Amino acid sequence: MPLILQQRVSLKPFNSFGVDAHAAWFARVQSVADLEQLHADARVRDLPRLILGAGTNVLFAGDFEGLVIQAALPGIEELGPSEDATLLRVGAGQSWPALVEQLVRTGRPGLENLALIPGWAGAAPIQNIGAYGLELAERLHSVSVWECATGQSRELSCEQCGLGYRDSVFKRDRAGERIVVAITLRLPRRWEPVTKYAELERELAARGGARPSAADIFEAVCALRRRKLPDPARLGNAGSFFKNPIVGRSQYAELIERFPSMVSYPLAGGRFKLGAAWLMEACQLRGVTRGRVGTYEGQALVLVNRNAASGREVLELAREVQQRVLSKFGVALEPEVRIVGA
Ligand SMILES: Cc1cc2nc3c(=O)[nH]c(=O)nc-3n(C[C@H](O)[C@H](O)[C@H](O)COP(=O)(O)OP(=O)(O)OC[C@H]3O[C@@H](n4cnc5c(N)ncnc54)[C@H](O)[C@@H]3O)c2cc1C
Repeated sequence: MPLILQQRVSLKPFNSFGVDAHAAWFARVQSVADLEQLHADARVRDLPRLILGAGTNVLFAGDFEGLVIQAALPGIEELGPSEDATLLRVGAGQSWPALVEQLVRTGRPGLENLALIPGWAGAAPIQNIGAYGLELAERLHSVSVWECATGQSRELSCEQCGLGYRDSVFKRDRAGERIVVAITLRLPRRWEPVTKYAELERELAARGGARPSAADIFEAVCALRRRKLPDPARLGNAGSFFKNPIVGRSQYAELIERFPSMVSYPLAGGRFKLGAAWLMEACQLRGVTRGRVGTYEGQALVLVNRNAASGREVLELAREVQQRVLSKFGVALEPEVRIVGA
């Protein structure tokens, strides 16, 4: 299919908040040849770039006066077994939830804890997607990127991607300059269930059975997520809007003394991760409505577009949340969602 480069394109169909904004230029790329063609096009080659997958982790707070590249490269290819894993190369445009389901159904376990996370495979390493006790980092072998500066492809090992909690080198360094064209997953050959996450453990226990299979974990995770999170097709949202903040030992000690029921998890190096949802709830910020936007009744961290709101309205609510949490706890909430055009 020939590459189509369009001007002034509405981004409404391309973001799960369902907010309207425009891109000055837009192209959906399906191959490295498409990227090369774009790179050579004098109309757009020097413009700011935004790489997009399915748009389930972005907020368009205004128009994007540059080139939006939707990285829709297809394909799933089994590269064969390594010593302890099966390697699977997946195109950036592959639907993540469909991939996880297909692997579980065909007896290739390893990703079941990450079931039903919306979006495409190419975005998975950007924030090192994680849920229910597993992060992508534990299943990622390498990432193939196409570098805009050189017009060349490169393979980055998992270590070179610098994955951390909802973080990677792609977020920190030269965002928009490296386009993920494919990821290579490593599925363990000797699979062990990952059930350390308390909520998942409880759900599995309620369903009975001794040692859960990958399909049991998949079903349990899907059930939990369907109960807890709104479907963006019905209520615009981008999942958790904020990351869980991380504080040092002395700030933690002071906070837990003042708020003994505060949700927190100890980390290595004497640091603590605080439950952002708990912080918001303590500020009476669960299930609130501000005009056409609000926070979800079932999960405070999810900001929602209740009725044809603009991205700016969502952003204003996000700022109110940050300000209230900061003034009550002295803790800064950092957005997990990528904010564009603010
Ligand atoms: C209901 C709901 C639940 C969610 N639950 C979770 C969860 O449990 N855990 C979790 O980690 N996330 C969760 N998310 C967030 C989201 O699903 C993930 O971040 C997902 O990986 C985003 O994929 P995407 O294709 O939609 O990326 P987009 O939203 O299109 O892009 C996200 C970021 O990645 C960059 N990007 C996208 N594709 C590429 C590429 N090919 N190359 C370079 N950069 C790229 C974009 O520039 C942007 O910065 C949830 C979202 C929703 C709506």
